[in-house]
Amino acid sequence: MNLKDPVSILPFVGPSYQTKLERLGILTISDLLHHIPNRYLDFSKITKVKDIKSGETITVIGSVTSVKNQYTKSGRMMQIGQIEDETGKITIAWFNQPFLTRMLYPGTKISVSGEISWFAGKPAFFSPQYEKIKEQKETVHTGKIVGVYPQTEGLTTKWLKARIKYTLDRIDIKEFLEKDILKKYDFFEFKDAIFHTHFPKTLEDAKRAKDRLAFNELLDLQIKAKLRKKKIQKKKSAVLKITENEISKFIMNLPFELTGSQKKVVKELLVDLEKNIPMNRLLQGDVGSGKTVVAAVSTFVSFLNGYQSIVLAPTQILANQHFQTFNQLFDKLKIRIALITGTTEIRDVGQTDIYIGTHALLGRIKEFKNAGLLVIDEQHKFGVKQIEFMQKLNPHRMTMTATPIPRTIAQTLFSDMDLSILDEIPGNRPKIKTWLIPNEKRDSAYNWVKEQIKNNKSQMFVVCPLIEDSEEETLKSVKSVKKELGNLKSVFKNLKVGLLHGRMKENEKNKVLEAFKNNKIDILLTTPVVEVGIDVPNATIMIIEGADRFGLAQLHQLRGRVGRGDKESYCLLFTENDSEKVQGRLSALTKTTSGFELAELDLQLRGAGEVLGLKQHGFGNLKIADWSDTKLIQISSEVVSML
Ligand code: ADP
Ligand code: MG
Repeated sequence: MNLKDPVSILPFVGPSYQTKLERLGILTISDLLHHIPNRYLDFSKITKVKDIKSGETITVIGSVTSVKNQYTKSGRMMQIGQIEDETGKITIAWFNQPFLTRMLYPGTKISVSGEISWFAGKPAFFSPQYEKIKEQKETVHTGKIVGVYPQTEGLTTKWLKARIKYTLDRIDIKEFLEKDILKKYDFFEFKDAIFHTHFPKTLEDAKRAKDRLAFNELLDLQIKAKLRKKKIQKKKSAVLKITENEISKFIMNLPFELTGSQKKVVKELLVDLEKNIPMNRLLQGDVGSGKTVVAAVSTFVSFLNGYQSIVLAPTQILANQHFQTFNQLFDKLKIRIALITGTTEIRDVGQTDIYIGTHALLGRIKEFKNAGLLVIDEQHKFGVKQIEFMQKLNPHRMTMTATPIPRTIAQTLFSDMDLSILDEIPGNRPKIKTWLIPNEKRDSAYNWVKEQIKNNKSQMFVVCPLIEDSEEETLKSVKSVKKELGNLKSVFKNLKVGLLHGRMKENEKNKVLEAFKNNKIDILLTTPVVEVGIDVPNATIMIIEGADRFGLAQLHQLRGRVGRGDKESYCLLFTENDSEKVQGRLSALTKTTSGFELAELDLQLRGAGEVLGLKQHGFGNLKIADWSDTKLIQISSEVVSML
């Protein structure tokens, strides 16, 4: 038997069980063996009846004296019986399992495991685990440490364990790590890890076994990243020579001075661009940290060397915005910039130097004969395939993201990329004050907002969560924002309220956004679908409804839409959920303005899937390992560098 074999080679696994296993993601023998318990019950303490104390979790081995059906006062059917060993008798009770009266006849030798409670003034087992004792056979479900498997939809733990046991008795699992490495990190061998994760002798063994398997998983991700890196580095890219004079002049002529971190990141980029292997850099920086101008500098380098640049934006709104920004930045230079989106095409006659657009650009790939540089804004909004397609051009590639990626994840999933971080917000922008507002204070908060808007002529965003937890906007979600629109209109009678949601036509969206930018609309109500970095400096208030439905990093990104000008800015969070956990989580936002800190916190509180929609990145969630396990992640980086 082989790890890659399909589960159908096992006895008792026909089409029906195959389907059930498939629902759990179990297709191969390897998947089956990696379907591991999520916790363990310690039934290893075997106790004589006379020594039993209530509250303890123990195992008793004895023979059945009787089992009878009996009804409770409320009419439930119970099976009450007793077992005895040489020191005494103990009562056992089950519910609704009448077959036990036939199966456990007097004299049957059984092993019973569970927590001891009280019944009729004496210690007793309630609904314990049990199994008949067979000569020469070890117990599987009692008398030892027993794994509890994650929800198995129509598959009992007993059934699963039997298949796993059958497999383990026959399979040969080869070790792929050197002995030295195993020893250095005190790892179980692969096959022992598999065995001990299912049938551990001690809880320490179970932990060690899980660590080894978690390590394998992390190592696998890092190896994949390493292979991606190798593949890219085998290719040749354009050498983009740095002509310092011209670049300095361009930077000097910017309407502002670059921040310290922008300068540092520009340096890092320039070093990469001069090499003949493609750059693969991830530029991380909070909303408003000034990524666009950094991108512009690199497109300028590409231009100076006679190459084209492609700037890929996830939405039309953003593509438009980049187009405007680039035109301003390159105002006095003869650089030909084209905008290509699903509905718009603005281009110079003749050759284009910088293409800015949405995925509509992909259809024009034949024109990019001379692509030196690819800039991707918010890569996770694109399909992996689309990006690979662009990669065929072997350009230098810079990916920008406002999503703070926790260090452990970056180290594992994105170790094929070099990291640049913008950790400074330019200018002396005021920090955004964030408040978590109790619902009973909603009216007074609204009154405060009215005053603010009136006195400062400022504007406000209101963000509603999606109703379904989907990336797509459903009609139901649209309906609920429309309802909120009614509410806002009746509360803010003298103000203009605009609506922006993902199901609107592109030109409608642009119209609303333009009106908001030009202060023709006071309040813009939107869904998170249109979250990405729009720049409206006069908007100083952000209300987020149903805040508990968002991750901390996402909330942080949302609030980053205000505080872009020099006016004091505010973020008001509302939630219906007043549980301590939710309130505690949300109050973190009122205390820190660091996206990284919030992302790390999210990772611990809600897991990776919630932090950044890693699934969108084309990476599934971890099965066994945990993103917060810094130590194992560190070890897997060490090991991958030795391979
Ligand atoms: P993001 O990182 O969110 O994409 P942008 O590139 O849109 O941020 O920049 C946000 C705003 O900050 C823009 O209006 C931009 O012109 C401005 N900006 C960028 N860098 C600086 C700087 N060094 N000093 C002052 N303002 C800057
Ligand atoms: Mg941006």
